[in-house]
Amino acid sequence: MNVNQHSSQPGHDRFGFSSFSDGLYIGGAWRSAAGESRIQVIDPSTEAVITAVPDATVADAAAAVEAAASAAEGWRETPPRKRSEILRRCFELMMERSETLATLISLENGKALRDARGEVAYAAEFFRWNAEEAVRISGEFGIAPSGTNRIVVDYQPIGICVLITPWNFPAAMATRKIAPALAAGCTVILKPASETPLTAYALAALYEEAGVPPGVVNVLTTSTPGPVTANLLADPRVRKLSFTGSTGVGRMLLAEAAKNVISCSMELGGNAPFIVFDDADIDAAIEGLMVAKMRNAGQACTAANRIYVQSGIHDVFAEKFTQRMAALRVGPGVDSDTECGPMITRKAVEKIDRLVADAISRGARVLCGGQAPAGRGFFYLPTVLADVSPASDMGCEEIFGPVAPLYRFESEAEVVAIANDTEYGLAAYIYTRDIGRGMRVASKVEAGMVALNRGLVSDPAAPFGGVKQSGLGREGGQHHGIAEFMEAKYIATSF
Ligand code: NAP
Repeated sequence: MNVNQHSSQPGHDRFGFSSFSDGLYIGGAWRSAAGESRIQVIDPSTEAVITAVPDATVADAAAAVEAAASAAEGWRETPPRKRSEILRRCFELMMERSETLATLISLENGKALRDARGEVAYAAEFFRWNAEEAVRISGEFGIAPSGTNRIVVDYQPIGICVLITPWNFPAAMATRKIAPALAAGCTVILKPASETPLTAYALAALYEEAGVPPGVVNVLTTSTPGPVTANLLADPRVRKLSFTGSTGVGRMLLAEAAKNVISCSMELGGNAPFIVFDDADIDAAIEGLMVAKMRNAGQACTAANRIYVQSGIHDVFAEKFTQRMAALRVGPGVDSDTECGPMITRKAVEKIDRLVADAISRGARVLCGGQAPAGRGFFYLPTVLADVSPASDMGCEEIFGPVAPLYRFESEAEVVAIANDTEYGLAAYIYTRDIGRGMRVASKVEAGMVALNRGLVSDPAAPFGGVKQSGLGREGGQHHGIAEFMEAKYIATSF
């Protein structure tokens, strides 16, 4: 273990914070918030204040809806080819600036640069993919069974969209919504997480440069997301809420959106099982688990949260996996050799500590890690726990950190039952050389996404989303993502 304390904090000028963090981005202009207060952005590697961003009030929320409404007709009427070209330019600019964007993500979020680079490429791909989708939106035409009329179905932009995103993928969670919304012809208001607003503002400046007209994308940061969001959703011109975040906040927002019967897409929490059968390629499974567990230092909704290893290979798997985890370099995300960055906040470290202490009190053995290192920064050591009791709190809560609990299982039926014994259903991972068994278990496991002999599921070209209390709707995929931002209009006609 090597916790390098942050030696050289990059200068602010490198990112030009002053050019985009002094105002909210509303109607194509950088505007002061109605209130005086500002939100501090903290570097989780050093606990130092990076900068501060404006703190929007309900008055600013109203201004953002006004701007989105003013731009709505122009954008909706913009030819799909033109919209497509602007989205393509967003992709190109993101890729041209990928190193700067990745460093900014690492700085405010803490994730290792290699993860941040991966995130920028993933985030940019939503623009490329939706640039291609924008010109392929088609309707339906048919004859009614009675023969008396024709059925015409026209897909239209749903209207103004409120987009709320979390801190763990500050670029990708925003572009996964903005790109399909714009492709569909909608205007949007983005409220990024308070911990990571800089990436959202940097990208807003980039969209403007790519040709996105004023008011089509608006960005506001606030320390009072409850009232500000309620105000946005209370405006009858807002017709869509797309939220990514915790299940608890998602439930509250669903209730808020119900007041105006607003269409909701919800990408919520996960509790992914990672199942390794006796016949699996052990080295490949460990490789996959390192990705599924340790991307973003375990702070991903798709992170392997419960690792079930069949008893025949359990001990050898635990030994080899522990060697890999113990060797990870822990340090500030912006240091190029870091493999595991910090957690987002002190509170996150305290939650992980509580979950680990609870597991140990119920008989878990610490194979490596098991604590937060001394010093500044919100770090937690890569940790492997064995003999974890299924009744432990970490069996039903998201760990959201670099802690891998191992559970032993005997049979296929047993592991399917325990994998499904959760309110969540986002991602699941299965390792086996028996593809028949792999497909059988994949079809039985209650999850929106299953990775079979792979440690990564996310792909802009595939439908991302969960079942049960992990969410509603899908993002990405051939038609799924864009369909969330359109409504079908049926026209009955005779001729
Ligand atoms: P969070 O606390 O639910 O916050 C998500 C967003 O909601 C932030 O922008 C937050 O703003 C805002 N928010 C909080 N309270 C709100 C309220 N009362 N009204 C309106 N907005 C409110 O989640 P998080 O801690 O940022 O992110 C981690 C969670 O997101 C995990 O559960 C993870 O599994 C989930 N996630 C899911 C996916 C997916 O695709 N399914 C992807 C990534 C993350 P503030 O920052 O200002 O509080």
